[in-house]
Amino acid sequence: MLRKNVELEDRVLILAPTGGDAANATLVLNRAGFKSETCSDLAQLCLKAREGAGAMLISEEALLGKMLPCLVELLKNQPSWSDIPIIAITSGGEATHASIRVFDIFGPSGNITLMERPFRAITLISALHVALRARHRQYQVRDLMGNLEQRVAERTAKLEETVSEMEAFSYSISHDLRAPLRAMQGYSYFLLEDYGDKLDDTGKDYLARIISSGNRLDRLVQDILTYSRFARSELELRPVNLENLVLEIVQHYPALQPPMAKIKIKTPLVMVMGHDGSLTQCVSNLLSNAVKFVPAGKVPEVNIWTDDIGPDVRVWFRDNGIGIEPAHQNRIFKMFERAPHANNYDGTGIGLAIVHKAVERMGGKVGVESEPGRGSKFWIQLPKG
Ligand code: ADP
Repeated sequence: MLRKNVELEDRVLILAPTGGDAANATLVLNRAGFKSETCSDLAQLCLKAREGAGAMLISEEALLGKMLPCLVELLKNQPSWSDIPIIAITSGGEATHASIRVFDIFGPSGNITLMERPFRAITLISALHVALRARHRQYQVRDLMGNLEQRVAERTAKLEETVSEMEAFSYSISHDLRAPLRAMQGYSYFLLEDYGDKLDDTGKDYLARIISSGNRLDRLVQDILTYSRFARSELELRPVNLENLVLEIVQHYPALQPPMAKIKIKTPLVMVMGHDGSLTQCVSNLLSNAVKFVPAGKVPEVNIWTDDIGPDVRVWFRDNGIGIEPAHQNRIFKMFERAPHANNYDGTGIGLAIVHKAVERMGGKVGVESEPGRGSKFWIQLPKG
């Protein structure tokens, strides 16, 4: 707990080096049961106030001393919970030059009460009661804030622990879960190749289903791992040559080249700020969807271009595929969400969630415009590179 020295926090610091104010006040305060300490100058007052104080009682003459900036500084730099009460003893009658100055300096920002000489004991005591009560509340707020900070720190530590457990879990999925899965896939292939002729058609069909389910499970595990990698990793953003990046992807996958598909790039594509690996993943996912969700017998055609949107670039991917119902256009960016028409097409429902997460981590946005039967236009928006 943060609670400091309660003794110091209750004391009234008195500074009134000239005249009888200090002696009078000390007498009154002691009789009324307040703890008080008299300071010799502003510097000492500031020092003691920093250790902790309930209120300050200062004569206006002392407030105009050489060390005034030290007090102004102290008041200005108080923590957010603190507003230390000051009672300034001023001369009575017409406002003096000193009292006006004191109020000018502290009035707007300070928690200051002016008390005119000759002050009555009861007036001083009631003013100090109010001041110390308010100060007590301030210390309570400080303690509360300290507790909250401690709780936030504890929760953060717990969350960090959970995240690292999740990371360990992902690691074990990739290594421990995929190894037996690969063995199952491998032996299924061997069985089909080496003993296939000993099986009847039903047996072969069962085996083919085992292989295809194994492949699907492997893809699912890989996609989940890719998603969790993007959810976790810190991405360093740099200017990326989008045109080269798209060309490289197209050259890498036969499914994106004639005669399987026609990809048209409207050059030049504007450079974007992004992360090379993440952007490659996003563009690959969008292009593989664009050529996948196309009616049977139709050659997929994809147009890619960029638009300036203020300080951003919007990269478009327009396909000639089956399109997406409006009701599903937002949902498909969530994990495992697939539109009903996608059932005839292979997939895990994670590709667009990966795109969404990766683009979000790069500080961008993603979206789609589509009409069923009339193709889709997916876009990614990122700052210009
Ligand atoms: P997957 O492709 O593995 O099904 P995605 O997360 O990549 O998963 O896509 C989610 C769903 O969004 C798809 O199942 C499909 O319904 C829809 N979708 C994505 N891209 C397209 C597209 N280019 N044309 C039509 N539908 C699409």
